[in-house]
Amino acid sequence: MPDKISKVDMEKIVSLCKRRGFIFPSSEIYGGLGSCWDYGPLGVELKRNIKDAWWRAVVQERDDMAGLDASIMMHPQIWVASGHVEGFSDPLVECKVCHLRWRATDLNGSSCPDCGGELTEPKLFNLMFKTFMGPVEDEASVVYLRPETAQGIFVNFDNVLATSRKKLPFGIAQIGKSFRNEITTGNFIFRTREFEQMEIEYFVRPGSDEKWFDYWVQERFNWYLKLGIKQENLRLRRHGKEELAHYAKDCYDIEYLFPMGWAELEGIANRGDYDLVQHAKHSGKTLSYFDEEAGERYTPYVIEPSAGVDRSALALLIDAYDEELAEGETRVVLHFHPELAPIKVAILPLSRNEKLVPLAREVYTKLRRYFMMQYDDAQSIGRRYRRQDEIGTPFCVTIDFQSLEDNQVTIRERDSMGQIRLPIEELVKTLQAKLSGESFATQPLWTAKTAEASE
Ligand code: ATP
Repeated sequence: MPDKISKVDMEKIVSLCKRRGFIFPSSEIYGGLGSCWDYGPLGVELKRNIKDAWWRAVVQERDDMAGLDASIMMHPQIWVASGHVEGFSDPLVECKVCHLRWRATDLNGSSCPDCGGELTEPKLFNLMFKTFMGPVEDEASVVYLRPETAQGIFVNFDNVLATSRKKLPFGIAQIGKSFRNEITTGNFIFRTREFEQMEIEYFVRPGSDEKWFDYWVQERFNWYLKLGIKQENLRLRRHGKEELAHYAKDCYDIEYLFPMGWAELEGIANRGDYDLVQHAKHSGKTLSYFDEEAGERYTPYVIEPSAGVDRSALALLIDAYDEELAEGETRVVLHFHPELAPIKVAILPLSRNEKLVPLAREVYTKLRRYFMMQYDDAQSIGRRYRRQDEIGTPFCVTIDFQSLEDNQVTIRERDSMGQIRLPIEELVKTLQAKLSGESFATQPLWTAKTAEASE
């Protein structure tokens, strides 16, 4: 492996994201819109890959999970029942440094208890975005943009239970946009007012909740490890009693060591029966479960692993970023797990020579049915390798004049820069095997050669 030469900082990530088409400031030609970001051609692939990896792990590969895609705008009573209408309407002050918020009255004029940072002015603040449904803008037509996807799951508990024929314990998983009118935003896509969540509500028999809580904390922590995030950059932090929401029995945050410090990637909470009881009370409907084995009816307890797509994307970009010394020059490389890499394979004809192009295009067309690809024939092969390294493409396939003779091509691996030559007919099979390798992030597939081929 080449030597690492520099630590990542947020400016480098923001600049790479802009330069290479991962993430752009929103509404840029109009001067931008605070805390809003647009995912460009590569960013949208990265995000899709994160969501697909999550869905595969928590829905596709399990028997005890059902999916859902609930509406963003829901009946306003849902937010009364959940406590969001009342709970976020207090005057709040927020520490500009650690972003902890307090009710202004709780502080009694004292400054921020832990870090001593400067506080914002108190503000009557509801985090929910409000709008009006239909043509009349009056109180009766107020609806909210959901501040979390979770409530859409709770209010569909009965629908999913009845149609999926699941038995407890089982969960409902949902990915979707959420909106919070955050007092302070920042750190790129870490805290924005529009973001995407990946949430599970896992329903269990009361009494088994602590066991399932531990299970999900472990399961979710391991998911980030499997995606290649370095263990030393991940930690679990248990909430203290004073930090727990009033309904939560227990809560862990999975935290990542971002350039600005340790911060939450995902929260896993034991919410007891709070949500189902609240919705049963406010809707007048029964939201409970008949346990055939035990012969009794009860309200399930809920374990909630709640993750952010954008924060995962940021952590994965930061964790994958390296500047290395390779053959006397700096190469910037994103060591993405192949499952996450926006582009899996790049086809690089050695030159634009008219003899090479038909074969290169043929290989490209053949492979793109299987992989997200790029075809690049501009500039030297070395420059093109660097371009692919910088966006995290695991494999480059080079077609040279020899290929015309022997129908063989060179595959070059991103991390080791090692190369092998193989027949074109073996390309799909070989690349599929290499790309699906779970050990990819930790084990180089080939031993690095000292020089790039054909440079
Ligand atoms: P924070 O304390 O950082 O505001 P939170 O504890 O309010 O987060 P949760 O309500 O637990 O967050 O939401 C679950 C997940 O949703 C978070 O772990 C995070 O990944 C994501 N998330 C929440 N708020 C935002 C936001 N404003 N921008 C981006 N992602 C967010």
